[in-house]
Amino acid sequence: MTKPIVGSFQWMKSLNRSIVLTTIRNEGPISRAEIAKRIALTPPTVTNIVNELLEEKMIVESEVGASSGGRKPIMLKLNAEAFSIIGIDVGVSTIKAVLTDLDAGVIREERRTLPPKPDAPTLLAELHHAVAELIGAAGEQRPVLGIGVGMHGLVNPEEGMAVFAPNLQLRHVPIGESLEQAFGLPVYVENDVVAMALGELWFGGGQDVDHFICVNIGVGVGAGIVLNRHIFRGSSYAAGEIGHTTVDLNGPRCECGNYGCLQTLVSGPAIAESVQNEIALGRSSQMLAAASGNLQAITGELVYEAALEGDELAREAFGKAGRLLGIGLTNMIHTLNPQKIILGGGVSQAGPLLTEPLLQTVNARALESSVRALTIETSRLGSRATAIGAVTIVLSRLFDRQPQTEAPYGR
Ligand SMILES: [Zn+2]
Repeated sequence: MTKPIVGSFQWMKSLNRSIVLTTIRNEGPISRAEIAKRIALTPPTVTNIVNELLEEKMIVESEVGASSGGRKPIMLKLNAEAFSIIGIDVGVSTIKAVLTDLDAGVIREERRTLPPKPDAPTLLAELHHAVAELIGAAGEQRPVLGIGVGMHGLVNPEEGMAVFAPNLQLRHVPIGESLEQAFGLPVYVENDVVAMALGELWFGGGQDVDHFICVNIGVGVGAGIVLNRHIFRGSSYAAGEIGHTTVDLNGPRCECGNYGCLQTLVSGPAIAESVQNEIALGRSSQMLAAASGNLQAITGELVYEAALEGDELAREAFGKAGRLLGIGLTNMIHTLNPQKIILGGGVSQAGPLLTEPLLQTVNARALESSVRALTIETSRLGSRATAIGAVTIVLSRLFDRQPQTEAPYGR
């Protein structure tokens, strides 16, 4: 993916500037002298960079700091409201896009519904609409610095390419190139759960731990892995495919060709299907009436609503999904020994209906040494977790003090 020459963003990537900016972001309000002390740069170099950053409105002078004897120093902080970032969550049926400031505070949200099984040009056109809308909302007051995209399925982040999206049956969609050419902004594309994990690392439940796993349970099931505060992608961007780990040797056939994959048992469509099968075999449930007698119209959301109203079959379906998810997570816990597991995606919204049986299973099956310091929680970024994560992809490029090739997306 070739990057266009976008003045401020390119300049921002110079290493010294990135280090100064990151220090101001993380430590601000901070004085020029303190910056020079924290990082190995001379005071004149810091002053030059600071002056340029002030001129560009990337930073502002804030309150006067405490004096250590002489003149009180002027403090500097990030001017988070002066610029904006676009983050996009490309789901199976909807596109959720947000415009945020440099602290990932949401200014505007744009949702677009995808037609069933869209072709690549249709998907790209919907993305262009969403971005154009948000760039318009940003206006000249808050120039957009970059676009991050969290795309489901297999993604090649180097090329900004959606390599394969099984749920849309799309291959090789050049999302990054298409958006860059249309809008002249830097674009970064990642797998949606990787984006979510990055968002949690910077702004959610991952801020206070070094090793954690984000598990997204929606139409599909996937995990984003963070080790030592860095995203772990594997050798071909396919780490975290927890949805295709086997939890039932005799389970149903999966789209990947195997049998009994976790995804075939705990995803939203899998929960709906298990309920449909039970009703077809004669179980009674209010869900059939709620779906106007059409078994196929029973969705994961409908099962959730019925469970809340006390429908026995619906509650059983979430109980079973929670136990099987507990087995899948126990396998991951024993492999990676994380401090935290963060649950996201539509199915995770079911809350205790899912998490109680899940926790019981993990506690009963996982080694005591593995669960002693483990927390399992639901994402506090909620349904925006992936979109905020997509914003964070861009932020991590702006504020990363490491050369990009060595530590992508770390902080
Ligand atoms: Zn599978």
